[in-house]
Order: sequence, then C-alpha cells, then structure tokens
Amino acid sequence: MSAPGKPRSHGRVQPVVSLQPRDLMADSRRVAGAWRAKVITLFPQAFPGTLGLSLTGRALDQGLWALDPIDLRSFGEGKHRNVDDTPAGGGAGMVLRADVLARALSVAAQGTPADRGQWPIIYLSPRGRPFTQARAQALAQGAGMTLICGRFEGLDQRVIDHFGVEEVSLGDFILSGGEIAAQALIDATVRLIPRVLGNQASTEEESFSEGLLEHPHYTRPASWQGRDIPEVLLSGDHGKVADWRRDMAERLTKERRPDLWRAYCEAHNRDPDGDQEL
Ligand code: SAH
Repeated sequence: MSAPGKPRSHGRVQPVVSLQPRDLMADSRRVAGAWRAKVITLFPQAFPGTLGLSLTGRALDQGLWALDPIDLRSFGEGKHRNVDDTPAGGGAGMVLRADVLARALSVAAQGTPADRGQWPIIYLSPRGRPFTQARAQALAQGAGMTLICGRFEGLDQRVIDHFGVEEVSLGDFILSGGEIAAQALIDATVRLIPRVLGNQASTEEESFSEGLLEHPHYTRPASWQGRDIPEVLLSGDHGKVADWRRDMAERLTKERRPDLWRAYCEAHNRDPDGDQEL
C-alpha cells in the first residue's frame, strides 16, 4: 500500500476493479437481433466469467450473441434491498421473494417476445428437467432466454407458477447457486449458434449429437509410454477410420450409458442386446 497522497511508484496503471460486469450492452458492434441471454442474479459480477473467454468470449465481443446480467439486489425491499425471507412453515434457510423477483422479471421482459417457445424463462434448479444437448439445440434456434439464478433455498413457488417459469437442472447434485449452472447452459447453447464455433462440423460429431458418446481421440506422439495410437487411425483409409470410430462410439455408449444405448437402438431398429460386431 502506498502512503496517502503519494503517487504509486510502480509507474503502471492500476486496473480499476468495477462491480459492474463488462459493459457488453453499450456495445455498438452488436449484431442486430443476435441471440441474447438475460440473467437475473445476486452476483452479476460472476458474468461473463468463463463465457468471456475463448470462443464464446470472442463471439460475445463480435456481437454474435449478447449477455445482460440483471442485478436482483437492485429490486430488493427497503433500505437494505432485502431479496429473501424465512420460509413459510418454518425450517432452515431463506427463500427468494416472489415480489422482488417479479420486478426483476418485468424489467427482463422488456424487448423480448412473449412467446415462451421463442424466449423461455428458465430457473436453474435441481428439481428441473435435466438439461440435454437436444435442449441446447432448441434454445440456440430461439431468440434468447431469461435465466434466474437461485440462491439459498430457492424461489417462492408463486413466481414460478405466475410467470410460467420452466425449471432446468444440470444434474442430480446441489450447487450453492444458479450462476455456474446458468453459465453452463449459456455455454452449451451459444456454441451452437452459427459462426460461434469456427468449425461447425465438430458439433455434428460430438457426444450426444447422434445419440452416442464420442469415440476416443489420439494425437502425436504416435507412441507414448509404451502405448500406441490404434493402427487404423494411421492407415489413411477414411472409410475404415469412420467404421472404427462408430464401433468405438457404440461400444462406449453400450458400456457406459445403457439409457442412451437403448434409445439409440430403438431409433435405428437394432437389438440393444445384440453384439457390436467388433
Ligand atoms: N433447496 C434447493 C436447492 C437450493 S441450491 C433444493 O433442494 O432443490 C441454491 C440454488 O442453486 C438453486 O436455487 C439453483 O438455482 C442452484 N442449483 C443448485 N443445484 C442445481 C442444479 N443441479 N442444477 C441447476 N441449478 C442448481
């Protein structure tokens, strides 16, 4: 710490730490009508977070999608901007108030289509329907979405019912808040927006896209720690490589995800108990 009144000796500009997330909104490069996520959160400074890096970050800078964090605290009650209260009926924890959330949702609704198919309102919640690649595809086709990040015990049920809020879960575990889940949802969706990923073909081959887990990958060196790259991958025979990859994908799916395997077999008229012809 430098003494008061003395200039800093480092000769460097100190970065200004702002509580505002990166000013993505005032961004004139934004593509008109770009896909947009509005995120209601008590922690707007958590955004864009990892979404600001790499492919999603570059696409955000280019205006291929847009992000509006909405600070729930600013809609709170009274001098202390209270957003939560004790659960009716007693018990541990706190519940986010319906009236406070309603104010935030009304602001979020400005300029968005009322059709929930085009613009769903999603509460990240362990009680929700599990998130899938198919849902990410569907979300990427829409105009955008409003996400609500829960904290504490979650939201007052009435706001969920009143606004037709859909609950979506990341999996059967409990996070301390919805922010990480929201970022996961946005990341999975944004990378499916055309031009966000440099190589769009790669999304067509990855796990879940065809109902199978992806085959294993290898790269140089050809031999490492006594382990060699499977010969077929070095054969230059594209047909054989494709067959091998499909066989591996099927075998992995059958072993690890019997649920996916059954669905895949049903869709392709195959016997799930039949051999893999490997
Ligand atoms: N009492 C709740 C859990 C609250 S956890 C229950 O038992 O269902 C606090 C917040 O974290 C939630 O409101 C939700 O927004 C988020 N969260 C926790 N786990 C999650 C999950 N698996 N998927 C999505 N969001 C989750």
